[in-house]
Amino acid sequence: MKQEFDVVIVGGGMVGAAVACCLGNSGLNVAVIEAQVSENFTPDQVHDLRVSALSIASRNILETVGAWQGVVSRRFCPFKRMRVWETAGDTTFNSNDIRYPELGYIVENRITQLALLERLAGFDNITLLMPQTISKIHYSGQGSELVLADGAVLHAKLLVAADGGGSRVRQSVGLGVTSWDYNQHALVIYVETAYPQQDITWQRFVPSGPQAFLPLTGNYGSLVWYQSPDEVRRLQGLPYEALKTELIAAFPDCLGEITQILGVASFPLKRQHAQSYVKQGVALVGDAAHMINPLAGQGVNIGLLDAAALAEVLVDAHAKGQNIADLAVLKRYESMRRTENLKMMTLMDVFYKSFSNDILPVKLLRNLGLGLAQRLTPVRNKVMKAAMGLEGRLPRLARGEAL
Ligand SMILES: Cc1cc2nc3c(=O)[nH]c(=O)nc-3n(C[C@H](O)[C@H](O)[C@H](O)COP(=O)(O)OP(=O)(O)OC[C@H]3O[C@@H](n4cnc5c(N)ncnc54)[C@H](O)[C@@H]3O)c2cc1C
Repeated sequence: MKQEFDVVIVGGGMVGAAVACCLGNSGLNVAVIEAQVSENFTPDQVHDLRVSALSIASRNILETVGAWQGVVSRRFCPFKRMRVWETAGDTTFNSNDIRYPELGYIVENRITQLALLERLAGFDNITLLMPQTISKIHYSGQGSELVLADGAVLHAKLLVAADGGGSRVRQSVGLGVTSWDYNQHALVIYVETAYPQQDITWQRFVPSGPQAFLPLTGNYGSLVWYQSPDEVRRLQGLPYEALKTELIAAFPDCLGEITQILGVASFPLKRQHAQSYVKQGVALVGDAAHMINPLAGQGVNIGLLDAAALAEVLVDAHAKGQNIADLAVLKRYESMRRTENLKMMTLMDVFYKSFSNDILPVKLLRNLGLGLAQRLTPVRNKVMKAAMGLEGRLPRLARGEAL
């Protein structure tokens, strides 16, 4: 028996689950296919290694679709201040300066996903197939037929790829990417500290690469150490006590005493951008469409903006009686997001390349930039608004408006 859906979303991670929630009660018949079941949350669990800094725009989206409460009731860490510095330049942004209570929130990826999956279970028009994988995808201009691992067959008018950076859907439908490697890896280190962490996240730039800190609840925090792949392999292979010694020597002491290391993981840094986000009957969202340098923590934030923009376009088209799978409709989504994402990716590259550069004029320029950000209120406010996801062309849900 073939099941018919208006929209099938492959991938129920943070972005795929958000697309589904944004389409809740839309009148469209939606299925989400997710391969892995995430472990349920209990308050005594250690923090996950994969955490993200969610922007105010992301919170607005989650709140408007009714999933934010699921984050708040589990675990999250708001932050008000953001410090960026290197040897000479130093600036701290504070949400009080623009009369916002917070700049953003550090949330474990699994908690964001659990909150969204819990919310989508409450919509009658959404079917969650989890755990489930796809064994075959037949794409044609008339829609897509998906054969699942258990033999079930689904037909989708619109296929949404939310299956991450290595997206099988994107490859199956023949949408190409441009990509390059930064030849650096990010080593994420989960630490316990002697004192509770505060409401500040920071990035320090040293010649070998950036160092970053994300506060977690209680006496915990997440450190990110950008290094060459060989150095990351060496550090990751060390016993935790030896790694702690290297960490204390290399990182600034603003965390207070690090009592123990509780977990370590590494991620290669890659930039990847789909040449097109759409074709007849297909749309790419989140990491399936773009992978961005995690330096300023924007990956999932721009993915959630994709989710909100795609849902807005589909809901509006459906209300006007248009075919949601038409290329002309889907192009509206692409025009809302591709240039915005490209701007953010380019900005991250300029930032990353200028701060990993020791040539004197570049050094002077970036110190000048940090100095200007420190002294000029309009520049500071604009940087803060951008980090909060409140600059540029925003979908309605990101402004806190219902669809
Ligand atoms: C070190 C590091 C730090 C980061 N920090 C931040 C940060 O602070 N802020 C931020 O915004 N972003 C951050 N990011 C980026 C962020 O993690 C990603 O952008 C985000 O996870 C993308 O979400 P997604 O849902 O698009 O893809 P994914 O998280 O990759 O989810 C894809 C989902 O699809 C499922 N799936 C895949 N294939 C199939 C299939 N065939 N069938 C069914 N299901 C399938 C997977 O199980 C998974 O659940 C960071 C990234 C790194 C590497």
